[in-house]
Amino acid sequence: MNPFGIFLIVATVTVPVCQLFALPNVSDQVALFSQYLGLAALILMAWGQILSTRLPGIESLFGGLDRVYVLHKWTGITAMAAVLLHDTIDAEMRGLGRETILNEIAETLGEFSLYGLLILVVISVATFIPYQLWKWTHKAIGALFAAGTFHFFFIMKPFAMGDPAGLYTGAFCTAGLLAYFWMLLPDRMRPSKAYSIASLERSGGALAITMAPVGKALRASPGQFGVLQFPDSGNSEPHPFSFSKIGDDATLRVTVKALGDFTSRMGSTLTVGQNVRIQGPFGRFRYSGKRPEIWIAGGIGITPFLAWAHALDDHTESVDLFYCAKSREDASHLAELESLVKSKPNLNLHLMLSSENRRLSADIVSELSACDLAQAMVSYCGPTSLREAMYTGLRQYGVGPRQFHFEEFEFRTGVGLKRLAAWVLTHGKQSRKTISENAKG
Ligand SMILES: Cc1cc2nc3c(=O)[nH]c(=O)nc-3n(C[C@H](O)[C@H](O)[C@H](O)COP(=O)(O)OP(=O)(O)OC[C@H]3O[C@@H](n4cnc5c(N)ncnc54)[C@H](O)[C@@H]3O)c2cc1C
Repeated sequence: MNPFGIFLIVATVTVPVCQLFALPNVSDQVALFSQYLGLAALILMAWGQILSTRLPGIESLFGGLDRVYVLHKWTGITAMAAVLLHDTIDAEMRGLGRETILNEIAETLGEFSLYGLLILVVISVATFIPYQLWKWTHKAIGALFAAGTFHFFFIMKPFAMGDPAGLYTGAFCTAGLLAYFWMLLPDRMRPSKAYSIASLERSGGALAITMAPVGKALRASPGQFGVLQFPDSGNSEPHPFSFSKIGDDATLRVTVKALGDFTSRMGSTLTVGQNVRIQGPFGRFRYSGKRPEIWIAGGIGITPFLAWAHALDDHTESVDLFYCAKSREDASHLAELESLVKSKPNLNLHLMLSSENRRLSADIVSELSACDLAQAMVSYCGPTSLREAMYTGLRQYGVGPRQFHFEEFEFRTGVGLKRLAAWVLTHGKQSRKTISENAKG
């Protein structure tokens, strides 16, 4: 994540502190603090909406799109906490005049926005909720933000909309609402490039789709992904896929594993010649090439590394690619990788097949790789559980946090409740064991 982006958000949320506490003739500091919390929540919600637009420049400011979504999630959660506190701590101030009907409507909409937000943010972080349901409830958060904006514009407050606090937060609300309306536009109205399916091929347990541009091509770099729509397939819902190959002839290839409803149907609904719309390219998953490289792929997580391997030149330091798969038959593009290894002397492939009882660990990476791990850059793409195990294990070999980077194939990352529950259970068991051992002793 780009630290500048986080700094920018924190700084913009802090500005109203100065604007509010500089107001003359305000003695009720507690109510003023509550007013601040309301403004901070609106600014954070506006950021949440802006971050979800995927507009150019967002990734440069905040880091890759997967990190942008993590930030989007936390701005939403923090906004919810701020709204809750704003409602709990009385924000009403005396001597502001008589309430009008508009003020009363604004107050009611504020309450509506608070309770709605509480419910929808909890739904948003519950990763077990099906994606389609999640998507619609998530879109409704924007409507609650609009209700919150109305509340802000028309509620009685200790400053006017023309004062710095009013203008500043009003500008954020307007930007957030514009972002929300942009996101409500049908996907076909967003910038995208037209492609058509040039070939379809089964590769291991996945489907490789090669697409040729119809008109101007997308300028993608190895490791990036696109958001693809297949309008002729009967379901034009946009889905993100990494490019597994960027051809010299401007073709793009994605390799898709059937992981759910949409991806399972692709094998039967796609045919050569069908249209594809691609938004992007997105993502900042890159390799340095200046230090020894360790690339670790779990299953379909091989896709960005395939594009990297194709682009690898002789000047790049040694690369050790660890590819974890169930079996040779299940490993997508294995023959292609093996042939790349023959033509690229700096590329070493280590196949870790569970059918042969070969499981990856940090010890194995250290044993098989040709470099000093403390000097290497490690890139990972695959299941979260393996990533966490590798990250913990490799730290013992001197791989620091800055040397370990990864691509997230899951935008909905929750808030770590499962991990917390697992931690509580393990530590609970351990403490009970220690207590009973002490009691026996
Ligand atoms: C940056 C990125 C790159 C990816 N690259 C690849 C790749 O190269 N190959 C590959 O096989 N898979 C890739 N995926 C995963 C792929 O996008 C999902 O497996 C696919 O969208 C699942 O859709 P589904 O309806 O079949 O499954 P579902 O069962 O509906 O969903 C499975 C999971 O995928 C997520 N998901 C579902 N629909 C969408 C959507 N429209 N947009 C975003 N996420 C969604 C959900 O969070 C859900 O948890 C990538 C994901 C991301 C975020």
